Amino acid sequence: MSGWEAWFAGQRAAREDAGLQRTLRPRAADDDVIDLANNDYLGLSGHPEVRRAAADAALTWGAGAGASRLVTGTTTLHADLERELAGFTGREAALVFSTGYHANLSAVTALADKQTLIVSDAHVHASLIDAARLSRAAIEVVPHNDVAAVRAALAAAGDRRAIVLTESVFSVLGDAAPLTGLAAACADHDALLVVDEAHGLGVVGDGGRGLVHAHGMAGHPHVVTTATLSKSLGAMGGAVLGSAALIDHLTNRARPFIFDTGLAPAPTAGAMAALRLLRGRPGLPSRIHQRGAELADRLGVRRSAGAVLSVPMPSPRAAVAAQAAALAAGVRVGCFRPPSVPDGISRLRITTHTGLDDERWEHAVEVLARVVDDLGVSTGRAVH
Ligand code: PMP
Repeated sequence: MSGWEAWFAGQRAAREDAGLQRTLRPRAADDDVIDLANNDYLGLSGHPEVRRAAADAALTWGAGAGASRLVTGTTTLHADLERELAGFTGREAALVFSTGYHANLSAVTALADKQTLIVSDAHVHASLIDAARLSRAAIEVVPHNDVAAVRAALAAAGDRRAIVLTESVFSVLGDAAPLTGLAAACADHDALLVVDEAHGLGVVGDGGRGLVHAHGMAGHPHVVTTATLSKSLGAMGGAVLGSAALIDHLTNRARPFIFDTGLAPAPTAGAMAALRLLRGRPGLPSRIHQRGAELADRLGVRRSAGAVLSVPMPSPRAAVAAQAAALAAGVRVGCFRPPSVPDGISRLRITTHTGLDDERWEHAVEVLARVVDDLGVSTGRAVH
């Protein structure tokens, strides 16, 4: 066995001992499982108009964008989507990326350098953590949703430019950021607030316009929004939304944007069709909240600010067992274990969906209530 093979085997054995080994489980197209692990909250990924728009775009433009956005990878589809995203969220301008991950990498690395202080909530997504590291800025991680800690960190920034990182609805905990307090702290210190609306767009605020819009901050010069097109919009891709000056800066300076091939035509057109459907049906997101409240109450866990319900488990193994029991009964849920959970608490992550008919939804609720009961798991523990 080579040194590397021995190292891989040792790493795997350590993961297995800790109950943390993960494997890919390919899903078949005719899979009949009720999927409460995905982020297609509004069911738009499979909507006939979204499918058709994506298929038509592939037939018209080809399977790929062909080059990076600044070379020839910007089509009229990209320009239209950027205009409509900005209009929908009330921002001056938008820039589309190949993923939400790239949107976060781009926003943060183009705004921060060695002279910058980044103040980051302890529960932000890995893409924001990686973005902060890549920027080479000084990083201060503050307790979750703690505005006073953010203020204290900003007060110590001195002459440095400062950026605060948060999510609107947190991806695993499902709670909302205190945007009013954070934005006020940023305004007082001339800091930028970067809000990742991956789980807010299409879910919260007026017709799904997001939490920044709901707080009347869409025109706020200190607030930058990032988003993904891969969750409520059912396609793929990412976006940054903000002032025209910000978008011009990112277009010229964000390396993950400049050196990446443009988003393919099919997801660009698919996301646009989904956005138009959402705009045409402003009541759609409210069903997420009705169903989410029903499920949370049934499981005895805290209600979500969005579509993500977090069910704390006593151990990684209990989380895996609960996930397996749900799957055996036809319901797929997410399972988050360390290191994906910074506080070390393993959780089931269950998402609410409007695309399921009542019968399937109610069946899923029954299954999950039984699984949680059978395990004798106390879900009443605060998720903070
Ligand atoms: N931010 C958050 C909060 C997310 O949950 C995700 C997706 N897991 C991303 C960014 C990355 O988005 P994408 O999957 O489009 O790369």
